[in-house]
Amino acid sequence: MKSRELFERAKLVSPGGVHSPVRSFNSVGGTPIFFETAQGAMMTDVDGNQYIDYCQSFGPLLFGHRDETISKTVRETVDMAWSFGACEPYSLELAEFLVSRIPFIDKIRFVNSGTESVMSALRVARAATKRHKILKFDGCYHGHLDALLVKAGSGLAGESSSDSAGIGSEIIANTLVLPLDDEEALEKLFEREGDQIAAVAIEPLPANYGLLIQRKEFIEKVAKLSRKYGALLLFDEVISGFRVSPLGMAGDLGIEPDLVCYGKIIGGGFPVGAYAGKSQYMDLVAPQGPVYQAGTLSANPFGMRAGLAMMQKIWQEQPYDLLSKSCKELMNGLVRILNLYARIDEKTNTIFSQNKNYISEIEWESVTYGSLFWLKQKTEQPVRSIDAIPIGHKQRFARIFHALLNQGIYLAPSGYEVGFLSTAHTKSIIDDTLDKAENAIKKEFGK
Ligand SMILES: *Cc1c(COP(=O)(O)O)cnc(C)c1O
Repeated sequence: MKSRELFERAKLVSPGGVHSPVRSFNSVGGTPIFFETAQGAMMTDVDGNQYIDYCQSFGPLLFGHRDETISKTVRETVDMAWSFGACEPYSLELAEFLVSRIPFIDKIRFVNSGTESVMSALRVARAATKRHKILKFDGCYHGHLDALLVKAGSGLAGESSSDSAGIGSEIIANTLVLPLDDEEALEKLFEREGDQIAAVAIEPLPANYGLLIQRKEFIEKVAKLSRKYGALLLFDEVISGFRVSPLGMAGDLGIEPDLVCYGKIIGGGFPVGAYAGKSQYMDLVAPQGPVYQAGTLSANPFGMRAGLAMMQKIWQEQPYDLLSKSCKELMNGLVRILNLYARIDEKTNTIFSQNKNYISEIEWESVTYGSLFWLKQKTEQPVRSIDAIPIGHKQRFARIFHALLNQGIYLAPSGYEVGFLSTAHTKSIIDDTLDKAENAIKKEFGK
């Protein structure tokens, strides 16, 4: 297997052999596949094996790999310019397109990743409020900036410890962390420290620790308390933006954030992030205001033109009903198969036999929102916070993941990542997926 050889070589020259941790397969075990080409819903690995791809680069590819419209734009761009480090019309077109359509943004600044967009938006929030503290929620991911690589500690609600080495204690001290789905904790924290909070950062559709769909009332409470105490409400829509609807979760919930962060889809598959909001905040950004933020390759023509092609196609085609329908069809089929063949799960049982919460028979279900999906063990209550995720989830997912992978179905390699559909996942591809999945699961569970 060529992938295995390449991974051995990669480990010698890059940490863990990868350039982003989840790619390593650490969460599911085994050796990562090295992919060479992709088209539509399909990816081909270095050995020539084909896979139906439900990761889609973790979300950017709403129309699938190398969508023809975007591809054409990118090929044209090669012959026009690669980067100027100077003013150009392409970012202006994308900015005008978005500002004229998204009612809660007056101005937008393009950067190169989701991480950069959140980092910059928080700087704006601190400058606007002259406060230092940031509130985030356990289970929400906002990129790898220091201030937000912090999760809840086991002590008092709101006290924090870091998820990564190398983060200064003063940064940790300024990041407050609360569980999702808990209005009472929210109120208490705001009473205690609300007047010191610069920004409340939240994924309005948390999709980086499973798919933790929040009650609308909870997000409303977050918004209301932020307003009341003068903290800026920052919606991190890096995943949900343009994926759930053209206006993202802000549109779906009817809640307007003060600042919003985009990434993933906004660049049409190229490295683009953006932060945006009302003029009163965005005008604080240099050179208009005192908040410094810059980028050598920011707003580069590939990302801007691919992004515009993506946005035009989104507003024209409004693919969301179609995507939801395909996603439901896929999940209904997969859950049916899992519940037919993968309920009594002996191998997992052996792993968990010392566990107090050990369950001998499980039922599967899916959580979906539009084209996002998450497979999990059935629970009595909807899972809305990370501590409600059933014990053993990671191992159960790993087993399903490998069974499907062997039959040419690629899911994101972690039980805590969500799955993504694109418009390239046609009815026939979904039917094909379900046929392959049935074989895979039957074989894995010895039926
Ligand atoms: C992916 C993601 C980020 C980070 O974006 P990068 O482009 O990987 O830096 C931030 N926030 C959310 C919600 C994300 O899903």
